[in-house]
Amino acid sequence: MTEDVRVRIAPSPSGNLHIGTARTALFNYLFAKKNNGKFILRIEDTDAERTKQEYIDNIFDSLKALGLNWDEGPDVGGEYGPYTQSERFDIYPVYAKKLVDSGYAYECYCTPEELEAEKEAATASKKPYVYSKKCEHLTEEEKAKLRAEGRKPAIRFNVSKAQHAFHPTSELSFDDMVKGELKVNTDLIGDFVIMKSNGTPTYNFAVVIDDALMKISHIIRGEDHISNTFKQILIYEALGVEVPKFGHLGMILAPDRSKLSKRHGATAVSEFVENGYLTDALINFVALLGWSPSDGVEIKPVDEIAADFRINEISSSNSIFEYDKLRWMNSHYIKMLPMDELKKKLMPYLKKYDLSQLTEAQFNRMIEITREPLILLSDITDAVEYFFGEDVEIEPEVQTDVLDTDTAQDVLAEFLKQSKAWNFDEETLHEKLEAFRGEFKEKGIKPKQTMWAIRAAVTGRTKGADMTAILAILGKDKVFKRVSKVLKSKV
Ligand code: GLU
Repeated sequence: MTEDVRVRIAPSPSGNLHIGTARTALFNYLFAKKNNGKFILRIEDTDAERTKQEYIDNIFDSLKALGLNWDEGPDVGGEYGPYTQSERFDIYPVYAKKLVDSGYAYECYCTPEELEAEKEAATASKKPYVYSKKCEHLTEEEKAKLRAEGRKPAIRFNVSKAQHAFHPTSELSFDDMVKGELKVNTDLIGDFVIMKSNGTPTYNFAVVIDDALMKISHIIRGEDHISNTFKQILIYEALGVEVPKFGHLGMILAPDRSKLSKRHGATAVSEFVENGYLTDALINFVALLGWSPSDGVEIKPVDEIAADFRINEISSSNSIFEYDKLRWMNSHYIKMLPMDELKKKLMPYLKKYDLSQLTEAQFNRMIEITREPLILLSDITDAVEYFFGEDVEIEPEVQTDVLDTDTAQDVLAEFLKQSKAWNFDEETLHEKLEAFRGEFKEKGIKPKQTMWAIRAAVTGRTKGADMTAILAILGKDKVFKRVSKVLKSKV
């Protein structure tokens, strides 16, 4: 590619960064990386009522956490700023006026009630609603009269005029980088508002002005914007500026094939992170929503994905967001984390425990023996519960199925008797427990059963981490206390 590649992600801060927006951001980022281009962040906050600073902060933080760092944007600046639309409100009227002066746009004085009546009439006659163009040819006198009534004009784009100036028929088409040729009959578009009567631009107008002024070369976004793209192409043409290339990504659907929403699980990047997902796993996972690696190896860091990325190979169909696959990937990424990093990442989920009860060595060992089955970082909270506090909560079925049995009671009484003399370091415990299991085996008790009894008494559970290590970390006093507590006949 010889031209300068400049792509952007342009989120509206009316919510936390959605996982779908993260995927769009990633594909733009990958496209920029692959083509030595620039990746730009623009905040589209023209809707003041829905914009919140906390959402802007969340968008910044989430993109950064995912490693999608931008070359130009509100915080880092750049040659084509400002990069926040609300700081560009003086720019849009200039271009709206240009379009009015050249006849590609006109003032519209219709009230919301009048427009509603037009829509109702269209519905009644079962026709698609298209604005009547009632205001297209208002004279200066008529306009002055309407203004005197207190009406303020919106500005509408003249679709048919632009269409016929640049295309021979009513068909408008473009070659989408992902989906191939897309077309529309512009007779069905209707003259749309580009500047509202309060002087603020609509999305379709602001986005074109900004993309043009910021020299965006390729626009990669969700297919829900295809209908907007046709309108935007006409605006570019009417302004006499180069039309960028477009690529529309299929949607992300929930496993039940409906739109991904809260009822399916987390949807915001920050929510996934709070729930215990690693951003490396998340970004790898979203890359696979529409893209597949040429070597079939799905687990890949972003820089390797960037090297392998080809926009024309993106699937044009919708992708299913398989939460189970994400969980699998997350567990894989947790396994790959070096111990020091893992410990840091687990800290937020260990807040409820008094970690000062453990020495550093005990803490490290605890993480070492509990990390294996973690699917989410947050699973650690439950996995280490029995390391803290004097007593342990016993699951009801552990009590009835294990601890209440004569076998368990025998094992525990004997364990208490013998282990008084043991050193509670792992090596000794390992040896002693082996011999201990052997003794019970001779009495017809399976080694597994022997260990179940001890585990149940000490952890309240029947499954868990390496038992020798657990005993060593807890230490003799705590272990004795817990075992004594469940013994029915006191020794
Ligand atoms: N602000 C728009 C959105 O969040 C941007 C769409 C676009 O990429 O043009 O959907």
